[in-house]
Amino acid sequence: MRIGIDIGGSHIAIAVVDGETIIEKIEYVYDVEFKNQIRKNLVQYLKNTISIMTKKYSIEMIGISLAGQIKKNTLIISPNLPELNGINFADILYSEFSIPVSVNTDSLCATKAEKEYGCLKSFSNGVFLVIGTGIGAVNFHDNNFFINEYGHMVVHRNGNLCRCGKKGCFETYGSMKALKKSVQDILGISNNSGKVIRAYLRENIESPKVQQIIDKYVDDFCMGLSNIIDITLPEVIGFGGSFSYYEDILLDKIKQKLENETLFIDKNDMPVFVMGKFKNDAGMIGATL
Ligand SMILES: [Zn+2]
Repeated sequence: MRIGIDIGGSHIAIAVVDGETIIEKIEYVYDVEFKNQIRKNLVQYLKNTISIMTKKYSIEMIGISLAGQIKKNTLIISPNLPELNGINFADILYSEFSIPVSVNTDSLCATKAEKEYGCLKSFSNGVFLVIGTGIGAVNFHDNNFFINEYGHMVVHRNGNLCRCGKKGCFETYGSMKALKKSVQDILGISNNSGKVIRAYLRENIESPKVQQIIDKYVDDFCMGLSNIIDITLPEVIGFGGSFSYYEDILLDKIKQKLENETLFIDKNDMPVFVMGKFKNDAGMIGATL
């Protein structure tokens, strides 16, 4: 068995996995005190939790999935938790447990899980987009994976300021964070929970204001997506991250727009669109591959 860990910007999930099956999962949402000393607290939390799991199960490796640039298991730049910059969880945990540890970018882990066991299994080439706070992207060709920065492709000249410093990046329009922000700004909803926002959108789907928000999101999303299709000519495009919880609200509209408007070169060769099988567990499962 293996331990898969997903270190997110607001919570951590640790699971014992056997292939694609989650045997046991423990999740923790950081509170303010925890976040104030996140580096020290995360290391302690990991050591405590892994120690309990290694007593119960025979663990052959530990895989960690997190957002950011990673080189040789070291987290170089964390977009969500800058206090973690420079940390090497693999060295820290290996010296504690003597179990091999690998650390990879969350979008790569999620793509590997979906390719091995999930929605990409029957395809030989394509793109997987992990859409949540930002947009992570990975191209795959058979079992070769290439991380991309499609999230920072400019879709509006002089547009929204992005966390990367550029203006008009795809993720400032196409991420779930961007959609939530429109809902909050236009409808005056202060609650930031995805569950609450999705419930509101579903209940008020006929309202002109809700339609306006969704149409604007779909317009911008298709602008970025059509560029990705023309650049990569994929057989399949998979969607993961919290986007997968909005399938009923967004996917048909996105397909219709791509079919009805001239947004990319070969409309007769539209890729297949699939939704991630593992949703937010994909990173954790893929971290063990
Ligand atoms: Zn950017």
